[in-house]
Amino acid sequence: MPFPVIPAALLRTLIAVSGLSLVVACAAETRTPTDQPSPTAPLSSPESPVLQSFADWRATFREEALAKGISPLVFDRAFSAIEPDASVIDADRSQPEFTRPVWQYLEGAISPQRVSKGRALLRKHSATLDAIEARYAVDRNVLVAIWGLESSFGQIMGNKSVIRSLATLAHEGRRPAFARAQLLAALEILQHGDVQPERMRGSWAGAMGQTQFIPTTYNTHAVDFDGDGRRDIWDSEADALASAAHYLQASGWKLGQPWGKEVRLPANFDYALADMDTRKALAQWRQLGVSGLTGLDEQTQASLLLPAGHRGPAFLVLDNFRSILRYNNSSAYALAIGLLSERFDGRGLIQADWPEDEKPLSRSQRLELQERLQNLGFAPGTPDGIIGANTRRAIRQYQQQLGWPADGYASLALLERLRQSR
Ligand code: CA
Repeated sequence: MPFPVIPAALLRTLIAVSGLSLVVACAAETRTPTDQPSPTAPLSSPESPVLQSFADWRATFREEALAKGISPLVFDRAFSAIEPDASVIDADRSQPEFTRPVWQYLEGAISPQRVSKGRALLRKHSATLDAIEARYAVDRNVLVAIWGLESSFGQIMGNKSVIRSLATLAHEGRRPAFARAQLLAALEILQHGDVQPERMRGSWAGAMGQTQFIPTTYNTHAVDFDGDGRRDIWDSEADALASAAHYLQASGWKLGQPWGKEVRLPANFDYALADMDTRKALAQWRQLGVSGLTGLDEQTQASLLLPAGHRGPAFLVLDNFRSILRYNNSSAYALAIGLLSERFDGRGLIQADWPEDEKPLSRSQRLELQERLQNLGFAPGTPDGIIGANTRRAIRQYQQQLGWPADGYASLALLERLRQSR
């Protein structure tokens, strides 16, 4: 993984299974705790049963897997010499105190090296990409951008045994039921013969191959595009790119439509409108004084995104942006994909300045912000250090009470103001 933390495909499925509303990043690096669904329950709660031994857990799980149709041969080969991996548990429990601001994340994601590598690969794979566009109606630049961010174009796919990682997480991770479902799906993949157990490698959380699909996403969306009979997202670029295209197609991709565009806002704009839950036609945004996005049907629905609050750049984002969020539910990630896909064509530069004097809140500061909002009678949700929809709504209400621009952005200035109120 090019970025330390929760892989795309894991978030993807968490969203799918939990029905969480879309999360819009504030000063958050993608795939960090500020941007991901709450991992919930700590292990050491008083109700937790004593942890089963790995061998006992494995014996129980073997019965379950066999009852679900996994053959004993496949199971025993996959699990031969499998022991828990302590580094997976460390990664699962890590809650980084500091996150990079969104502009630093974008700088890393859209590096000149990644842009030039992507351009070269667009040329190299143009025939394959022609065929993929024709079959799935997903724009090639976006596929190559996803490829670039997920695995550095297949260079960094994670080198952990997927079976071992998921078995470790199913045994003693924070989301054992989720990991167990992924592990069963991984065994189904092995039983289907798409990949040998030794080659089934991925991130600590079980995100696999050049697309970083988790096993359930693989089972629903991976395709054999090069026609050798195996869905190989590890060693076949054609299979990997087509699988990503299949996923985006299923997420409602609209061929030839932009993801969105940077826009300008008028003075005295109502920043409370900058929320992914607020959708308006382009004609309505224009009436509100938002300018800079032209050439599309006036009835096209769009939301306004302020990734760094009202002091930073503003973007109108369209349905394709939401499709990218289905791949990885982080607005910083979706913005990086959109901009990188344009950089391949020499576009995708941001005009407005980022508020680089602003330091993102640390995890403990975010917790403090939530607790203080709660103490004042707002409803930011259970304080967990994650700035989600509820926290943003509570911030907006407090900002409105103060007469501040109500952008819902968790800034240090806001925390300092909260510290002064009683
Ligand atoms: Ca294949």
